[in-house]
Amino acid sequence: MGRGIKLFKILGIQISLDYTWFIVFGLVAWSLAQGYFPLTIPGLGISTYIVIGIISALLLFACVLIHELSHSYTSNKLGLDIKEIKLFIFGGVAQLTKEPEDPTTELKIAVAGPAASIALAGVFWVLTQLAKTISGYPILAAMFEYLTYINIVLVIFNMIPGFPLDGGRVLRAIWWKKTGNIQRATQVASQAGKTFAILLILFGFVQIFFGNFVGGLWMVFIGMFLQQAAESSYSQLLVKQTLEKIKVADAMTKNVVVLSEDATLSTVVEKYFFGYHFVGFPVASDGRIVGMITLNNVRMVPKEEWATTLVRDAMNKITPDLVLSPQDSAMIAFQRMISLDIGRVIVMDNGKLVGIITRRDIMKLMEFKVDLGV
Ligand SMILES: [Zn+2]
Repeated sequence: MGRGIKLFKILGIQISLDYTWFIVFGLVAWSLAQGYFPLTIPGLGISTYIVIGIISALLLFACVLIHELSHSYTSNKLGLDIKEIKLFIFGGVAQLTKEPEDPTTELKIAVAGPAASIALAGVFWVLTQLAKTISGYPILAAMFEYLTYINIVLVIFNMIPGFPLDGGRVLRAIWWKKTGNIQRATQVASQAGKTFAILLILFGFVQIFFGNFVGGLWMVFIGMFLQQAAESSYSQLLVKQTLEKIKVADAMTKNVVVLSEDATLSTVVEKYFFGYHFVGFPVASDGRIVGMITLNNVRMVPKEEWATTLVRDAMNKITPDLVLSPQDSAMIAFQRMISLDIGRVIVMDNGKLVGIITRRDIMKLMEFKVDLGV
């Protein structure tokens, strides 16, 4: 999910929009402007309906954002690090970098969002009553009534007990707390999510069959999305849990070939890249590791200059980001490579080079683990 627009920061959390958001925003504003509002407050001009449709759609997304912020704020309070919320086609996704470590934390984070939505429904209900009693504000009353209703819908939908929805997280936390087994709890909650998704799809088809084409299609669409989310979040979690148990020391390549920073690129290409078939090598100077050179670095230099260019001028200089300890988990290594968009990290123990770990090393080990069922 790399695509999107960065909007602004609240409470240290970056808010972004996925491009799919615009599609849903347009659909919501349009259906409000030509369906809901003309029905509830007839007799206004088309441009008025469009304006209040857009304003209400914006307020709806503000409500979704507050729901997600409530999850993220609670997560950060409880020690999990959430830096970004992305609003996309079906609401929002907080970018979790870590999974909660105990069921109580999970439970608190899961209920924080729906709790915010219930509070919002309450606020808009009071505003609706106020707008209704003070006559002359029928437009405001209709808008507030819609927002009351939509926040209740958000609560009900999110509390459906299927992972990865909030209700599924609650189910997982309770199961986890009762049995102490997070794998089993995740499996149960994901299965519930998939079952619910399939029921929703079937129900959608029944609706289409009986003539409610648009409503039924929405149900099928949301059901398919949920089913896919339940499956992928489950397998992601399995990968995470496996990688967290593997130490960098057990996944890394130990026999590392180190280059001198004074070698020319032609020597490096002929002797090392062709000789060893590695894609990257650590670079040393006076026995100290000073950088790393990869095929990409070499590719940046024109071929005619390989004979005269030294490794030191083409390599990436070493930074703390490019170094891990053998005691770190493979999960940390994997996250580092993803966030820096690199293929390998150097492993050092007390300032001494002990290995190099690549994405391929991690993938290979994962494959073995899955194949052998350990
Ligand atoms: Zn939520």
